[in-house]
Amino acid sequence: MKDNPFTSNDLMEITSRPPILFVRGKGSWLVDHEDRRYLDFVQGWAVNCLGHSPELITDVLAEQSRRLLTPSPAFYNQPSLDLARLIVKHSCFHRVFFANSGAEANEGAIKLARKWGELHKNGAYEIITFENSFHGRTLATMSASGKPQFERLFEPKVKGFPKARINDLGSVERLITDQTTAVMLEPVQGEAGVVPARDSFLKELRELTRQKNILLIVDEIQTGMGRTGKLWGYEHAGIKPDIMTLGKMLGGGVPLAALAATQSKSCFEHGDQGGTFNGNPLMTAVGSAVIKTVVSPGFLENVDALGRYMMQGLTDLSKRRSLGRVRGRGLLLALDLGQDIAVKVVERALDAGLILNAPRPNMIRFMPALNVTLDEIDQMLNLFEKVLTGQ
Ligand SMILES: *Cc1c(COP(=O)(O)O)cnc(C)c1O
Repeated sequence: MKDNPFTSNDLMEITSRPPILFVRGKGSWLVDHEDRRYLDFVQGWAVNCLGHSPELITDVLAEQSRRLLTPSPAFYNQPSLDLARLIVKHSCFHRVFFANSGAEANEGAIKLARKWGELHKNGAYEIITFENSFHGRTLATMSASGKPQFERLFEPKVKGFPKARINDLGSVERLITDQTTAVMLEPVQGEAGVVPARDSFLKELRELTRQKNILLIVDEIQTGMGRTGKLWGYEHAGIKPDIMTLGKMLGGGVPLAALAATQSKSCFEHGDQGGTFNGNPLMTAVGSAVIKTVVSPGFLENVDALGRYMMQGLTDLSKRRSLGRVRGRGLLLALDLGQDIAVKVVERALDAGLILNAPRPNMIRFMPALNVTLDEIDQMLNLFEKVLTGQ
């Protein structure tokens, strides 16, 4: 790789970045400092559900920023009331707490489950999570995550997160003790390389947790807000979890996350939870605009159709090039390349003006905007195939 002119002594180096500086974006396209255009199938890490800088969001930001930024979380504000109402109206949950990042929302879910265990299960505090899961980068959410790279970092971990295997009910059952207060999982494991929890597994898990009086927490930070073709990932299985966390697409590109719970599980007492910027009107106003768009007539049907189209296109490409399986749901898909070349492929795609992600050494992940067009999916497939064949 050429010398990186943007390497900085001022930033803490937390990852290696390519020698590119993005200066603007619109829809599925980003433009760099040399005016080169890139087709973006990462979208800020599955964040920009309506693409880069959609007018809807920039207008809401402009208008709300002129009216009120932050009155303090100690007072009510209308945008946060409106967004809470919308989430409640369109889900099986009754109460919402807003946060600023996915990890913070999950941290809140962990606290809520521990509080519930304290109140109703003699102080039970363990939360069963899953191998290869990802729940964030705070100490507790890193401890909850089953990401192998986290195992030896920042010891000692927060205790109380035994790990089961996804789609293996027995592995969950064996970990349940008197100390278990909840099971927490992603409906589709995103960072693990797009590994869906089977609908039948989610159903059985709901049944098991109900029988054992254990909470079921779904981390919908990557799968929520229509990513899988339904508003929430859990809907595919027809289950009703007790707690859900949201992030990423909830803000459509601005930092916004949420924790939602059913009435009987919303057991925080005054003083248990809070945060300076939580539920601020600037971000929650954007959240309302986003969710209204996603639930508007035909939007999710279109996501489903686009997802099927991309799945078919990738499956055909995989057959032509003798690659592996395509998995995922809606507009969260991954292709198994059959060899550990994904990092190289992502680098070459970037050189060719296509932004992709490699969640595993052999997997390429696709997470475009939910309003990506068929033509943009075709362009992506064409570019991707050229990259694969070295043209
Ligand atoms: C991205 C992600 C998180 C963490 O969200 P941040 O906003 O980065 O803190 C947690 N869980 C899942 C499933 C995610 O995809």
